[in-house]
Amino acid sequence: MKYSPQQSLLIWYEKNGRHTLPWRLTKDPYPIWISEIMLQQTQVKTVLERFYFPFLERFPSLEALAEAQLDDVLKMWEGLGYYTRARNLHTAARECRGTFPRTAHDMISLPGIGRSTAHAIASFAYNEPLPILDANVKRILHRFFALSKRDEKQLWTYAYQLFDPNHPFEYNQAMMDVGATVCLAKKPLCDVCPFKPACLGKGSPDAYPEKKTTRSKPIRTSVIRIYRRDNRYALMQRSSRFLHGLWGFSETVNLPIGSTDHFLGDITQHYSHFTLAGTVYLSDEPFEDERFEWFSLDEIKELSLSRADHKAMALLRYNLDQKREDGC
Ligand code: SF4
Repeated sequence: MKYSPQQSLLIWYEKNGRHTLPWRLTKDPYPIWISEIMLQQTQVKTVLERFYFPFLERFPSLEALAEAQLDDVLKMWEGLGYYTRARNLHTAARECRGTFPRTAHDMISLPGIGRSTAHAIASFAYNEPLPILDANVKRILHRFFALSKRDEKQLWTYAYQLFDPNHPFEYNQAMMDVGATVCLAKKPLCDVCPFKPACLGKGSPDAYPEKKTTRSKPIRTSVIRIYRRDNRYALMQRSSRFLHGLWGFSETVNLPIGSTDHFLGDITQHYSHFTLAGTVYLSDEPFEDERFEWFSLDEIKELSLSRADHKAMALLRYNLDQKREDGC
């Protein structure tokens, strides 16, 4: 019988696919959408174990998410990072006005839903015959067709070429699974791959695609100062585009150290476009800034903080615990 990559993929998926993932057991576009957004930049295991179920428990429907406060959504997103995803989810839920779009074409008009995500949701929820093109699928296509050049437009053409429009759900899920478990970025398992007979890149998978020239990220140094007054601490809710909506301590490029400033420690936080190297101080200096509000330690637990501010907070707690133990 003539080899068919699509047929081989479906047979492989039947036997090896991750069929029990909860977002694969529903046709409701809302949880599928939530999973797709969470899975951008985050591994399946992490999403499954820590974020997917609590988020859906807190916001069980499109309406519940639309009616929620942004603060609450950010709080549930804490730890997933890339908070723009959470803000877009919230805005998009409001834009839906109670009904999630039925076609990929209409989904793309919502914030945070790109072409591949729209195709994924539409094919999973409505069986719309459209291929996806996430990072894993890109890697498979580069290798299968031996494409060195990174060219998104060209990849879409190849995505349609390999696609099986008769089985959009199974095909797209199977491609995700082959990318995640077989055609690995490092040391792909070609011997067990359903594409092996026709894959043009299997002899030298590392050659496809060509390597990106990596530029080292700039390091941004800053002074994070935790101002204290009557056992309350000053935080402001960020209004800038970066980390918008999250609460944080005072952060400055450089500010002279005050006589009551107490060094707590250094933190490092890697962001996609820079690395933050922060020096954290606890300060009892007088502080007036109307953008800041004062919170107790218990109240801070309820706020959504960036990872850097969580690290600063951990240093503060450690310091206060030490003081308590020392009887100060
Ligand atoms: S044969 Fe190897 S390189 Fe080709 S798609 Fe499969 S795992 Fe990837």
